[in-house]
Amino acid sequence: MKLTAKPVRGSGVRHKPLAATTAPGYKNPNRQIVVRDTGAASRLRDRQSVYELRCDACGLRYGCNGMDIKARLCPGCQGGVAAEPLRESQQSSLFG
Ligand SMILES: [Zn+2]
Repeated sequence: MKLTAKPVRGSGVRHKPLAATTAPGYKNPNRQIVVRDTGAASRLRDRQSVYELRCDACGLRYGCNGMDIKARLCPGCQGGVAAEPLRESQQSSLFG
């Protein structure tokens, strides 16, 4: 009995040179666009900073850590998880 299990080679286009999902202007498949790195530390993920994203569908701006950008859904119109706070937003001090 002979098993002819050849290793399946996909159409080898898997290797992208480090997708810059945190670069300003990057748009993920859910139409969430990176605006800038706010420099604030993420509260959800260690050693990640918070980026400001803008939703191309509704225009909402919100914070998102670097690791979650590529699959981010808009918290306003796509049912995404709650945004991380943007440091410069005009909210009164939460921990006063
Ligand atoms: Zn939206």
